[in-house]
Amino acid sequence: MTVAICPGSYDPITMGHIDIIERASNLYDRIIVAVATQPRKETLFSIEDRVKFILNYFKKNDCIIVESFDTLLVKFAKKYKAKIIIKGLRAVTDFETEFQMAQLNHELDPSLETIFMMASPKYAYLSSSAIKEIAQYGGNVKDLVPQEIEKELMAKFV
Ligand code: ADP
Repeated sequence: MTVAICPGSYDPITMGHIDIIERASNLYDRIIVAVATQPRKETLFSIEDRVKFILNYFKKNDCIIVESFDTLLVKFAKKYKAKIIIKGLRAVTDFETEFQMAQLNHELDPSLETIFMMASPKYAYLSSSAIKEIAQYGGNVKDLVPQEIEKELMAKFV
């Protein structure tokens, strides 16, 4: 069984993330959506909420598992016997940090491969921070995030 990990902070998950996770789930037997706890970074949503939103969205998909993590990604990968890390690339700006991170992780565990998937054109401009900014100023985030999150965002910024 091939297990792949889709790591991120998912604060909150967007349709761009979902697109990558679903495309990855067509390629591998099991996908673990690994939600970084981010204890040193301020997040809009708690780790419990970030995990819950993803669980609710994928509840009918048995091959997608959602877990939080607060350790090195390579350690988390080992625990779940995952050999693949999937990352989405939106623009050249993503490349530099992702390239560095992929090399670091490979150095820490050479058996772990990072595979990059190109963002779908319709979501290439989408990021969690853009979503939060739009919502903060009362903009419409419908179709950019799951419905549940749209409601939660509206409640946060009333
Ligand atoms: P963000 O960069 O939106 O804050 P994360 O840190 O949670 O999100 O990102 C996790 C992964 O998802 C990264 O590999 C990132 O490049 C990817 N990703 C985020 N948004 C998109 C998108 N719209 N299309 C494709 N990949 C994306």
